[in-house]
Amino acid sequence: MSRPCSCGSGEPRREVNDARGIFVSYVCDKCEKEKLKGYRREIFVNPRYWTSEQQPAKVGGLSAAASRARTRSARAASTR
Ligand SMILES: [Zn+2]
Repeated sequence: MSRPCSCGSGEPRREVNDARGIFVSYVCDKCEKEKLKGYRREIFVNPRYWTSEQQPAKVGGLSAAASRARTRSARAASTR
C-alpha cells in the first residue's frame, strides 16, 4: 500500500504534516532529515506559527513587572 520514497532509498514513504495538519512532504527514514531541513522546526510544533510570525513577541512582560514593583514600593512607602 505504501509506495517507495521518491529519494530512491526503497524505504516506504510517509506523509509529513505540520502542526496545522497541512501536508508538507513525503519522506522516509533515510531522507526525512534532509527533506525537512529546509523547514523551520517551529511549523511542526506550533500550530500558530503563522500568527506568531506576523506579530513578533513584545517585551511587555518587563514593563508590567516593573510597574508592579513600583506599586508595591509606593504602598510600602505610604504605610509608614
Ligand atoms: Zn526517502
